[in-house]
Amino acid sequence: MSATPLVSPLDLPKTEKSQLIPPLLGASVTELTAWVQQQGQPGYRGKQLHDWIYNQGVRSLSDISVFPKNWRGELAEVPVGRSTLHYRSVAPDDTVKYLLKLADGQIVEAVGIPSDKRLTVCVSTQVGCPMACDFCATGKGGFTRNLNRAEIVDQVLTVQEDFQQRVSNVVFMGMGEPLLNTESVISAVKSLNQDVGIGARSLTLSTVGIRDRIRQLAEHNLQVTLAVSLHAPNQALREQLIPSAKAYPIEDLLAECREYVQITGRRVTFEYVLLAGVNDLPEHAMQLSKCLRGFQSHVNLIPYNPIEEVDYKRPDRDRIQAFVKILQEQNTAVSVRYSRGLEADAACGQLRSSKFKS
Ligand code: SAH
Repeated sequence: MSATPLVSPLDLPKTEKSQLIPPLLGASVTELTAWVQQQGQPGYRGKQLHDWIYNQGVRSLSDISVFPKNWRGELAEVPVGRSTLHYRSVAPDDTVKYLLKLADGQIVEAVGIPSDKRLTVCVSTQVGCPMACDFCATGKGGFTRNLNRAEIVDQVLTVQEDFQQRVSNVVFMGMGEPLLNTESVISAVKSLNQDVGIGARSLTLSTVGIRDRIRQLAEHNLQVTLAVSLHAPNQALREQLIPSAKAYPIEDLLAECREYVQITGRRVTFEYVLLAGVNDLPEHAMQLSKCLRGFQSHVNLIPYNPIEEVDYKRPDRDRIQAFVKILQEQNTAVSVRYSRGLEADAACGQLRSSKFKS
């Protein structure tokens, strides 16, 4: 994978500048140093630029007061890559939901989830999503475009600045399918790790599974946590819920996940949205355990968050506990993730869809 080229803005006619220059956010200190040198500036200004972008949260390069005045004037044209706040809402449990407006006017969701000393950010990787999973609000809205690395890193900085607290964890579980946007996602992961300073193991990438992409991800040796949205213990049921499962059968997906474990030495998390009467029966729990026998894995059960477009139901607590108990009896590692911030449409894609109803 090649790094995004950073072209010299000085050579471009003024009107084309802001459209053609890639935003700087997501660039490493090495890239920024090379870039300032291209502009005829001494190399140490690269480190200054890095500090202003990632630590001071500068939104316009013309505000970097340590840079010479005449250069600052020219730099006003170069985009940093920061979004603007379109909407913000706070749930009673202190989860904060953001709708962020991008340079082309598109809107994406990000969520800040505080807990004890941690601050987790849920980021989007696409505007919309093409996977069309039947229970997912984002999937109902269709797909618009991929996000670039700056637009992904921006979400984390935005939440960090709003909370005035360092982000400890990032989950790629907002809008979009990360493995359909691997180049931007992998460079955003590297930047979050090296530039924003979040440990690779505190970054979780969630995917519904795209053929060959899990293996490719393993080969990048990033040490991120991989979460795979399984949602069903057999092919027939998975196809019902996830259209892309037809072209990528569950056996192939699980085989690729096993390769991931072999290559990286890290366990895989399997996400499983619990839909009452659909995939939460005792036989499903038994099948799920069977699928994962001998597999270094962990099941994360997610009680369904109701969306308007379909009439699935969330199982009651007894039913959820019964499912958990079977997995435990079968020695399958399991936890339950109760979504937070439901009151303000926190669940995947729900905030954006509720704010864009006509
Ligand atoms: N496309 C990726 C990441 C985005 S969705 C993926 O599919 O993994 C993040 C997680 O939220 C996925 O496990 C997804 O299945 C789940 N999800 C989507 N809609 C949901 C809903 N209404 N209730 C509970 N979980 C949901």
